[in-house]
Amino acid sequence: MLNDTSPTGASLVPPLDLSTFLRTIPELVWTAQPDGRIEYVNAWGCRLLQANFEQLRDDGWRQFVHPEDLERTLALRQHAFETGDPYEAEFRLRDGQAGTYRWFLARALPVRDTAGQITHWLGISTDIEKQKWREEALCQSQERVRALVDSNIIGIIVAEGEEIVEANDTFLRMTGYSREDLLQRRINWVHITAPEDLDRTRQAHQELAHYQSMQPYEKEYVCKDGSHLPVLVGGVVFPYDPSQSIYFVLDNSARKELEQRKENFLSMASHELKTPLTAVKMRIQLAKTRLMKQGYHEAAAVLAKAEGSVKLLERLIKELLDGSRIQAGKLEYVQEPVDLEALLSEVADTMQQVSATHPIVVRGTIPCTLIGDKGRLEQVFINLISNAITYSPSATTIEIDCHVSSEAVTVSVRDHGIGIPQELHEKIFERFYRISDLSQRAVPGLGMGLYIVAEIVRHHGGTIQVESEAGNGSTFHVMLPLKRLRTVLPRG
Ligand code: ADP
Repeated sequence: MLNDTSPTGASLVPPLDLSTFLRTIPELVWTAQPDGRIEYVNAWGCRLLQANFEQLRDDGWRQFVHPEDLERTLALRQHAFETGDPYEAEFRLRDGQAGTYRWFLARALPVRDTAGQITHWLGISTDIEKQKWREEALCQSQERVRALVDSNIIGIIVAEGEEIVEANDTFLRMTGYSREDLLQRRINWVHITAPEDLDRTRQAHQELAHYQSMQPYEKEYVCKDGSHLPVLVGGVVFPYDPSQSIYFVLDNSARKELEQRKENFLSMASHELKTPLTAVKMRIQLAKTRLMKQGYHEAAAVLAKAEGSVKLLERLIKELLDGSRIQAGKLEYVQEPVDLEALLSEVADTMQQVSATHPIVVRGTIPCTLIGDKGRLEQVFINLISNAITYSPSATTIEIDCHVSSEAVTVSVRDHGIGIPQELHEKIFERFYRISDLSQRAVPGLGMGLYIVAEIVRHHGGTIQVESEAGNGSTFHVMLPLKRLRTVLPRG
């Protein structure tokens, strides 16, 4: 006997009669005879197709199916009606109101009598236009991703811990590894990273673990044949599997080669310019001395000006040469005892002679001798004082303060000039960086000075920091640690 209530007590008999239900349900409901001829379409369906039942009955519905979908749909129906298997088909139906086609999913089940004979088919066709649209968009984006993965431009790898578990052909071609190597799990990012790039790579992986993505960075891979390949690498953690990360790898060798050629050019050009310039300087000096002796003071003054310009050129060329030596890791240093206090007062005296406009004051004592490169340390302070003078056009004092602790010597060079905006405090130490302020355009320079200064200080194990704001002067603090300078000899 049929039980009319569910275990929760809710009624199992619909409170509405079936025809009301079929009329109002927002689905295309239909029934068909055992051979498939339509015998009923609900009102919602008729409204959707803008058709009356007479137009739809028997095989009339077919005229509303998209011509491209008809044959396939009929074949599926035929199969269902012949075998009695559930019917399911996706096809486009013409929306009578909009005049366009929309995708529907039609499903139907046979209704059988007590003898098991099919008496009717009961079907529902559901509007799946939005779902289809989403599927298509997903498909298109997957195709785009696949095109990228299959392209020969970008290497793609998936790593789990240190192991590379998946890689596209481009990555394998770049590094010379085979798919067999990959399957045998023989590719590990630690092994294929050039030793000098390991620290940077580990740092990038920490960044990835922390922020789920990493800033692209440059490094070199060691290929299977031992050759090195410059690459640009970036990556993200898989959102649905944080144990895996996906990386893109771009071959950076063309760019690196161009950079190298530029470096070679700079180094060669500055070398080639240096020798004739030294000869010109010497001749000018010689001629100037002779003219002075012979009493041609006016002509000697002209030559003195020319000498000034040559000296400026000489300084710029030296900076270029040092810059390219730093890039090539070939800036040479000597290790010698350095009396920093004496060095500072010598530099200050020399600079004072060259530029009388700015009084230079040295304060504090340094009661120890450091081990370092005297010439290079001189270069640091000449540069800082020279900048302090250059960028304080309304002549004011340049102050040099020395401070010694048990750990380090700190020398601060302060000016009361135009200052440096906060956001440029790091930039000014970059190679070729100059503040492109109108007021500074006329100042000669290559943006190399502070880059070289920072490199020399770093080589001595120290740091350089700037304290400044626009319009309020600048102080450059050079800290040279006593421990890293190996020996601290008592002076005297
Ligand atoms: P440059 O030789 O062109 O002066 P530097 O590397 O020495 O190059 O300096 C980089 C930039 O930093 C300069 O162009 C200048 O704009 C700024 N700068 C350096 N020192 C000072 C300073 N003491 N006061 C203001 N600006 C400075």
